[in-house]
Amino acid sequence: MAKAKVLLVEDDSIQANITKELLEKVGYDVLWAADGINAIKTVKSERPDIILLDLILPGLDGYEVCRWLKLDESTKGIPVIMLTVKKELSDKISGLQIGADDYLPKPYNELELNARIYASLRTKTLQDELKMKNKQLEELLYKVEYMAITDALTELYNRRRLHDVLGKEFERSKRYSTPFSVVMLDLDHFKKVNDNYGHQTGDMILRGVAKILLSSIRDIDTASRYGGEEFVLVLPNTARNDAKNVAERIRETIEKNNFSIIENNLLTVSIGISGLPDKKIETEDKLMRCADIALYRAKQNGRNRTEIADGKDLENAH
Ligand code: GH3
Ligand code: MG
Ligand code: MG
Ligand code: MG
Repeated sequence: MAKAKVLLVEDDSIQANITKELLEKVGYDVLWAADGINAIKTVKSERPDIILLDLILPGLDGYEVCRWLKLDESTKGIPVIMLTVKKELSDKISGLQIGADDYLPKPYNELELNARIYASLRTKTLQDELKMKNKQLEELLYKVEYMAITDALTELYNRRRLHDVLGKEFERSKRYSTPFSVVMLDLDHFKKVNDNYGHQTGDMILRGVAKILLSSIRDIDTASRYGGEEFVLVLPNTARNDAKNVAERIRETIEKNNFSIIENNLLTVSIGISGLPDKKIETEDKLMRCADIALYRAKQNGRNRTEIADGKDLENAH
């Protein structure tokens, strides 16, 4: 293990040498600063593991040095032990109040000094470990949350997340009477793609389609994988006819895209749209069923096309 680095701040050179020798004997690397300004400079440049700080110093005194170090984000974690001939209780309290970690009256007992340095370093190590563990935990939590709402193949939102988004958007649209649209996309004859080129190629195409979707929508829109080769876009503040423009642009991009593996570029997509406001659509479930009816119609009418449905179509479907 590397030697711990101790910064000794002491204006009396005789006293400093005695303490330095003592600490070196125990096995520490010792740096020495004879006044407050040099102490702060040395902390910044040398990053000691612990600071032994004399209280009475020329220029900046020990309290001020301590206050500076404890206010600075980059140095506040370094333990400070105040060393001083002052041993009034009120002095101890002021030292601790401005952030000193421990206090030792001079002349100090060697064993006590060593024990206090050891204890402070141990506390620091534990705190550092705890910080690191917390950071790891936060990262893990972030990953778990990400995985819970993300489709593993395409990295779009998954179906669960879609329902959250849909729920929020539905509420907002009802409350403020803003329009919003749901765009449901289903790849045409995708079974054939899998049959002819294999499942892995199929997966690659699904990822390619996901990329096209993401690059075709605004920041406030969301794209999710609804099922096998079905995707759903939620477009806030977008009326159905505007959603149709977006959908048509996506349909054409997919039609023209060179999914190099497929002969004759025959990959196409059918699209169904539903949206609010619509008096006959009171639930998210009805809104999704409505998009599904539109999609079914697009398939019926020859595929590679976009259809819109509304609440009346939903009634007629019963
Ligand atoms: P249609 O034009 O009527 O939609 O025909 P289709 O063949 O696309 O429709 P169908 O629902 O019968 O088949 C969907 C196919 O999508 C079935 C399956 O082979 C494929 N599929 C579903 N999920 C995945 C997946 O995760 N990876 C791959 N490679 N294929 C998938
Ligand atoms: Mg002094
Ligand atoms: Mg399908
Ligand atoms: Mg399909």
